[in-house]
Amino acid sequence: MATILDLIGNTPLVELKNMTKHLPDNIHIYAKLERFNPGGSVKDRPALCMIQDGIDSGKLTPDKIILDSTSGNTGIALAMIGAVLNYKVRLVMPGNVSDERKRICRAYGADLIFSDPLEGSDGAILEARRIYEADSDRYFKPDQYNNPANPRSHEESTGPEIWRDTDGTVTHFIASLGTSGTLVGTGRFLKRSNPDIQIIAAEPDSPFHGIEGLKHIESSIVPGIYDASVHDQKIPISTEEAYDFTQQLALQEGLLCGQSCGCAMAAALKVAETMMKQGQAANIVAIFPDSGEKYLTTAVFSGNRMMDGAGI
Ligand code: PMP
Repeated sequence: MATILDLIGNTPLVELKNMTKHLPDNIHIYAKLERFNPGGSVKDRPALCMIQDGIDSGKLTPDKIILDSTSGNTGIALAMIGAVLNYKVRLVMPGNVSDERKRICRAYGADLIFSDPLEGSDGAILEARRIYEADSDRYFKPDQYNNPANPRSHEESTGPEIWRDTDGTVTHFIASLGTSGTLVGTGRFLKRSNPDIQIIAAEPDSPFHGIEGLKHIESSIVPGIYDASVHDQKIPISTEEAYDFTQQLALQEGLLCGQSCGCAMAAALKVAETMMKQGQAANIVAIFPDSGEKYLTTAVFSGNRMMDGAGI
């Protein structure tokens, strides 16, 4: 009999038809909808892989508490998986992450510790490190920023799924950057399958951005798993662009998305427009990491043009 954990992965790939009307017929943009994972985001994949790896290596024993720093989705995934496998989960997150995320983690029974919002995700990383070092025997720290099981989960699942679902015709792969696990793992698999596939990182254009879940790598603690040799290109995306495209995805494509989907979509359209100018065909696949419900009370959906009736 299957458990909820067996539903992780094999997320659908859908074509975006309305926001691409200005493009020629030989250019397609597909979104891989990671919201269909049971925890609601792409992070179910690495969370399960890191926990499984911990169990297999003997580092995660039944008496240990799973501890990590997370801006939210990994926390939700760890909390959900912890509930299924009977582990206690303790999460450190910046105090300003959306209220919905905090409530979801608590609903799965996780214990939350808040770090200084002004220090962002780096503050949460340092606080989790302090807690771990003070009492390391008590904890299992998956450490998503440095754990090779994070990109490996994508190398073993996200990448093969994209290859399979496009019948090997994918030409460009786009992922936004948080820990970089999605980009690095999926990119490795796709490059190995066909070295011509362009691997593209969609990155916030400044250290002070409002795209939840993402990192501006140059100005952050660089994740140990980050491998700059995997991507061919990085496209900087502003918070305004990411928000605008997030709103348009709901209005035009019926996809209520998190802001990092808007970020990936902005990059996908830039790539598509470049290919159009060059007169070339393209099958662009963008990762859409989660859905919009968790962000309804945040700036991206409050007081925007939807409320002004422009969507009627
Ligand atoms: N979007 C959202 C909403 C996320 O939570 C994350 C993970 N922090 C990402 C994108 C980036 O994924 P990754 O950590 O694999 O780079």
